Amino acid sequence: MAYSMVVCVKQVPDTKKITGNAMREDGTVNRAALPAIFNPEDRNALEAALRVREEHGGTVTVLTMGLPAACEVLREALVRGADRAVLITDRRAAASDTLATSYILACAVRSLKPDLVFCGRQAIDGDTAQVGPQLAEKLGFTLVTYLEGLAMEGRRARVKRNVGSGTETVLADLPALFTVMETANELRPAAMRKVMRFKKARGAAEVAKAVETEQPGAAPEARAAEVQRRLAALKDQGLLIEQWGLDEIGADLAWCGGAGSPTRVHRIQSIVLAGGDYREFPPDLAGVQALIGELIEDHTIG
Ligand SMILES: Cc1cc2nc3c(=O)[nH]c(=O)nc-3n(C[C@H](O)[C@H](O)[C@H](O)COP(=O)(O)OP(=O)(O)OC[C@H]3O[C@@H](n4cnc5c(N)ncnc54)[C@H](O)[C@@H]3O)c2cc1C
Repeated sequence: MAYSMVVCVKQVPDTKKITGNAMREDGTVNRAALPAIFNPEDRNALEAALRVREEHGGTVTVLTMGLPAACEVLREALVRGADRAVLITDRRAAASDTLATSYILACAVRSLKPDLVFCGRQAIDGDTAQVGPQLAEKLGFTLVTYLEGLAMEGRRARVKRNVGSGTETVLADLPALFTVMETANELRPAAMRKVMRFKKARGAAEVAKAVETEQPGAAPEARAAEVQRRLAALKDQGLLIEQWGLDEIGADLAWCGGAGSPTRVHRIQSIVLAGGDYREFPPDLAGVQALIGELIEDHTIG
């Protein structure tokens, strides 16, 4: 049986490259100072979906919510083999916390009517690992976290999941949402032919910006007509990144952006991990007894 699949991917600042001016004085990340990358585990989520399509057939749609610059990760997803790419972008989505983000994603995913949704386990910037489970809850889908292996059996999935000390296998009825670990699979290399083809894929906001730059003196109607002409051409060539706003996905604004975000940031603190006191105990019975005595006294054990 062929499956309709959605993969949620996020563009994130490369938090491994935090140096110099990458942190602001208030402790927040200066996103402009860091390269923007495909959230690592979202690549594994995409790979898991592509493998299901290879074995059983179906379609893979990648979905991201972000600024128009997030089209970059959608282009990469098309290069890797996604069939369709959708950007949700809307000024009214700014200041969304995880609850609002998962609400907006849920509105979009619902309209795609998937059998399977794949998310990364965690994004390397927000780091909460909340969006996948919240999305499953809102969609009413079976949720399986920490996926490391997947085999489809009709309307059921056999999932190997990491439980920290080992793995367990669970059966999940469809529709289902999986959060995928980095250890789930090896990524396929990008084919040069596809890199060349999909580097030309564009979304509506990118096209509008290009027309504005190229035709600064043109009348607004002429510019709008040129944008429509270019979008139609991209669609014909299979190079259109679809762009949806909150109205198109039928989102209730009360659940989006700041209005839909109960999280309040009270304080941001830089934590510097440092070593504590160093004590050495002799490697004999007396030494072990002294160590245990001290750990009990400190309430570390006992
Ligand atoms: C008060 C507050 C205000 C915020 N304001 C903004 C803001 O204005 N702009 C902003 O960009 N961020 C904002 N954020 C951050 C934003 O809420 C999170 O980045 C977002 O909800 C994802 O959470 P996370 O990074 O912890 O993802 P996780 O829950 O760790 O992500 C798990 C998986 O969910 C999926 N996923 C997560 N986010 C997306 C996405 N956007 N699109 C598609 N799939 C996704 C991916 O598959 C990802 O691997 C704000 C956060 C708070 C608390």
